[in-house]
Amino acid sequence: MIFDYAIIGGGIVGLATALALPESSSVILFEKEPQFAAHQTGRNSAVIHSGIYYKPGTLKARMAVDGNRSMVEFCRAHAIPFDICGKLIVATGDAEVARLRKLEENARGNGVATRWLDAAEAKEIEPHVSAVAALHVPSTGVVDYRLVSEAMARSIRGQLELSCRVLAIENDRLITTNGDFRARTIINCAGLFSDRLARSRNIRIVPFRGEYYDVTGASASLVRTLIYPVPNPDFPFLGVHLTRGVEGHVHAGPNAVLALAREGYRWRDINLRDSFETFTYGGFWRLAARNWEEGGREVLRSVSRHLFAQSVQRLVPGIQERDLHRSRAGVRAQALLPSGALADDFVIERRGNAIHVCNAPSPAATASLEIGKYVAAEAAKGCRL
Ligand SMILES: Cc1cc2nc3c(=O)[nH]c(=O)nc-3n(C[C@H](O)[C@H](O)[C@H](O)COP(=O)(O)OP(=O)(O)OC[C@H]3O[C@@H](n4cnc5c(N)ncnc54)[C@H](O)[C@@H]3O)c2cc1C
Repeated sequence: MIFDYAIIGGGIVGLATALALPESSSVILFEKEPQFAAHQTGRNSAVIHSGIYYKPGTLKARMAVDGNRSMVEFCRAHAIPFDICGKLIVATGDAEVARLRKLEENARGNGVATRWLDAAEAKEIEPHVSAVAALHVPSTGVVDYRLVSEAMARSIRGQLELSCRVLAIENDRLITTNGDFRARTIINCAGLFSDRLARSRNIRIVPFRGEYYDVTGASASLVRTLIYPVPNPDFPFLGVHLTRGVEGHVHAGPNAVLALAREGYRWRDINLRDSFETFTYGGFWRLAARNWEEGGREVLRSVSRHLFAQSVQRLVPGIQERDLHRSRAGVRAQALLPSGALADDFVIERRGNAIHVCNAPSPAATASLEIGKYVAAEAAKGCRL
């Protein structure tokens, strides 16, 4: 049998793409793990982003804003618990106020409503924050993306092949650990391995681990919703933040350290091929040359709970180091260009009969339903059904 579409990857992007394909088509989805959402999708901050950070006009900006709405609709339709609790981005010193104003302007450019707060108003929302000013973003929320993925998988009409790794793509053939399959259009949503399957020369996935701590005891009661720092504009990640998840527990993170394996969730997880690919890539060394100081600080914070606690205490001074307990980490599939620049936007490329989702880092969980619709529309354009 020749399938109309084969999708590689049972994370939220692959699943959302399968959902968006025409119902009349035959679809097969391959996931190498025995369950869906085992990697980025199941190991993230669980935030439904609002779309304030991304440059107006980019795919990220558009799909995060629309994705915020479509994710909420999906959760409602499938009875998945979520909470649009809003978030507070806090400027802890005067130097951060100007950067926060820029973020407010950017949010306006993306059509996202925000409210500027002085210190007293910020404390009405989060009584324990240390802020000289803050930006409130009411449309941000929380959800468990594993539950969302499971609901997506249940809704897909097609063949779902779990525990089946795609080893290579050769024209319309997929060589897998369960034998060969054929498909007219192949869609690569393999996250941390998407560049390898795409055999991309322009892009390399460089894995950045994000580590979390559970916040327990009296410290947890100091956080009502989501508390974020003002992001460092020279750094692509949002900074360590505090999140009260939909089930009520509070976590702090993620930091960002280079992982020595693409699925390296601990320092001792080392994969020689993955590390070789990172360290022989010119783009990595160009990135490292520009960011060695920040990178060094991140490594120290990764190995020291004390330093991690200090970052969190900048936001909420009352949080105690003894109430922080290491929890599971995630690894971001961040595409790096040969110039050493991190790919800023989502990257979705067509080559022959294949579409490769080569860069879908945060906020791709929020934006997943929009990415899925976009990829399905792209697939239909070149469709040879
Ligand atoms: C620490 C962290 C925090 C984040 N926080 C947020 C957040 O709060 N909100 C948000 O919107 N986004 C967040 N993100 C981003 C979001 O989680 C990802 O953008 C999103 O999950 C990407 O989904 P995906 O399907 O592309 O990748 P994945 O979830 O990684 O799925 C890819 C799948 O492909 C499978 N696969 C790989 N190779 C093969 C192969 N050869 N054969 C078969 N299967 C294969 C993998 O096993 C995996 O299941 C965060 C990410 C991280 C890492």
